[in-house]
Amino acid sequence: MPELPEVEVTRRGVAPHLEDRIVEDVILRRDGLRWPFPPDLPALLKGRRILSTGRRGKYLLINFEHGVLIVHLGMSGHLRVLSEGIELKKHDHFDLVVSGGPEGRRVLRLHDPRRFGAVLWHAHDDGELEQHILLRGLGVEPLIDGFDGALLYRETRKRNAPIKQVLLSGDIVVGVGNIYACESLFRAGISPKTAASRISRARYDKLAGAIRDILAAAIVQGGSTLRDFIAVNGQSGYFQQTYFVYDRAGVPCRNCGTPIRQIKQGQRSTFYCAVCQR
Ligand SMILES: [Zn+2]
Repeated sequence: MPELPEVEVTRRGVAPHLEDRIVEDVILRRDGLRWPFPPDLPALLKGRRILSTGRRGKYLLINFEHGVLIVHLGMSGHLRVLSEGIELKKHDHFDLVVSGGPEGRRVLRLHDPRRFGAVLWHAHDDGELEQHILLRGLGVEPLIDGFDGALLYRETRKRNAPIKQVLLSGDIVVGVGNIYACESLFRAGISPKTAASRISRARYDKLAGAIRDILAAAIVQGGSTLRDFIAVNGQSGYFQQTYFVYDRAGVPCRNCGTPIRQIKQGQRSTFYCAVCQR
């Protein structure tokens, strides 16, 4: 599943092909994905200029003067920028055709086999984007200055659930999905089973640093795949990293040699080292 780093790498990959371009066409090949496509999207966007791109959590934001196109990649989606006339593949559900750049007309194409993705429109007339129903419950962005150990400590004083599940809930900090929760808890030396309310401020400082470092490293690593976003038939730009605990059940810990353990927490697999993480 695309996580925050993949979405940010996607944003950086498609941004140079979208920003300051004019929308020529919007092609909806089905009624919707996870939610219906706005049926008036072509009328809303044709002839309009894309001002910029952004990201909030795992939502890609394409900003126009009158609103924001919100794109989510769901479980299996990816975006590519293509020349016009490239043959459709199964599961290519949405195209945004743009012009105005040195390369001529380009197609931003959403491919989503499992159809948990989304393409939605937020009109500025409807209020603040941050109050959009999908965005308003989101925690802070982990890569901005406001995210630190003090914030994690403050927001967890009444949270008695295990820290792993609190991270996954996304209401304190976004973008720490299953892989990055496991990896950052390992990096910080914190057991995923520890109640969030019982972790000290000093340990949260380490955890916040680990989250930032791991996400930032993933984005840098993903940057090397940027060319894939404009490949004609290339695979998506998602990338495998070197993990310390994730998906390594029974394999010796890279730090101490103890076999990595796998447990279930809230339906999700957690991987950790019982020696390195307390
Ligand atoms: Zn270990």
